[in-house]
Formats: sequence, structure tokens, C-alpha cells
Amino acid sequence: MASDRGPPAGDPTLRRRIEPWEFEFSFDPRKFCKEACLLYEIQWGNSRDVWRHSGKNTTKHVERNFIEKIASERYFCPSISCSIFWYLSWSPCWECSKAIREFLNQHPNVTLVIYVARLYQHMDPQNRQGLKDLFHSGVTIQVMRAPEYDHCWRNFVNYPCGKEAHWPRYPPLCINLYALELYCIISGLPPCLQISRRYQNQLIEFRLILQNCHYQMIPPYILLATGMIQLPVTWR
Ligand SMILES: [Zn+2]
Repeated sequence: MASDRGPPAGDPTLRRRIEPWEFEFSFDPRKFCKEACLLYEIQWGNSRDVWRHSGKNTTKHVERNFIEKIASERYFCPSISCSIFWYLSWSPCWECSKAIREFLNQHPNVTLVIYVARLYQHMDPQNRQGLKDLFHSGVTIQVMRAPEYDHCWRNFVNYPCGKEAHWPRYPPLCINLYALELYCIISGLPPCLQISRRYQNQLIEFRLILQNCHYQMIPPYILLATGMIQLPVTWR
């Protein structure tokens, strides 16, 4: 059975997989991790082949590195449609959001879907505007949920034998809080999620501060999914 083995030995992506600790360290939404990590998939035209790789920040942010790398690859053919999926430990900053938009404007055959584990400096108005502009230019941006953690574990992680289904399960609470804040960003609403680091450890503390506009503009199911709102609430 597949679940009794690690990644298949003949898997061409094996040498490019990251270690389980690295995945858990980088993508745990409950923790503050300074390093940024990008896991990405590229599909060309109607091909079923998927090219997978990972990247880190260097002197430039990982998103910029990706754009420069793909644009310079000899197999990159602008006339062939190309689907790109990113799994990012942090959402793009405003400068990277701008670079992504410019890249997509120059390459209309490229579609990009971005999943993020955390929101990078989300109180910064420029970062918020950057993500909003990305979304409104056609980029899909979502917070990583259980299916994405499962997918990344199976396809990007050098999981140990017998641990194929042992992808990390993170509490829905923090995932739903990030999803709520991302909704605010995309809708142009003020921030409602305060994030602070607990003293002397990497854990993140979340606080929800809702204004009238949040109650008026955010669908109740998104607010209720945080588990931090209690009924009865007067909607609208
Ligand atoms: Zn950046």
C-alpha cells in the first residue's frame, strides 16, 4: 500500500522535496517564522505533467526570485498557457505584489493561484493594497486549509515511511481568522485581526476587534467560522 511507503523512490521530485520539520516550521499558522518558503507547481498547456519545486528568500524575496527564474527559463514559452500554483508561508509584500502584477501583465497566458499560510504585516496599508490589487487583477488568493496542507505534504515533503497521511493538522481557528482578515483586505475593510508574538516563544496570539462596518459587510458565516463571535448578533 502506498501509505506504507515514503515518497516513491522513482519520484523525479524526490531530491527537491523539503524535510517534514521544515514544512511544519515554515507553514504552521500558529507560529511566527522569520523565513519565507515557497512551494510551487507549474503546468503547461494541456499537459498533465506538473513541475514542482521550492524556493526561499535570498537577497530578494522568494516571489521575485521565482519571477526572475521562470522568465529566464529556456522552456518558458509565453504563447503556451501556463498554470502556476504557489503555496507561500507568508503572503506577498506590496513590492512583490506589484512585481507579480507586472509579470502577469506581460504574460497574459499565465494564471496564478496563491495559497498563504499567514498574512505578512497585514496592518500595513501598502501590503493590504498590494493584495487587494492582486486579487482584482485576477489572481486567486486563499488561506491554506486542510486540503492544501494535505496536498503539500504528499507532493513537496519527504515524509517518512508510513506517514503519507500524517500531514500537520492545524486548528481551524487560526486558519479561519486569517481567512477573515484576507476577506477584509480584499473587500477594502479596515483590519479586524490583531496579531502579537507571545513573549519568549514563537507562538502567535490573535485578537479580534470588530467594528460596525465588519458586521455590516462580512457574511455571517465567515465571522461565525472564527468561533470567536457569539450569537445573538444583529446583522446589518
Ligand atoms: Zn516581498
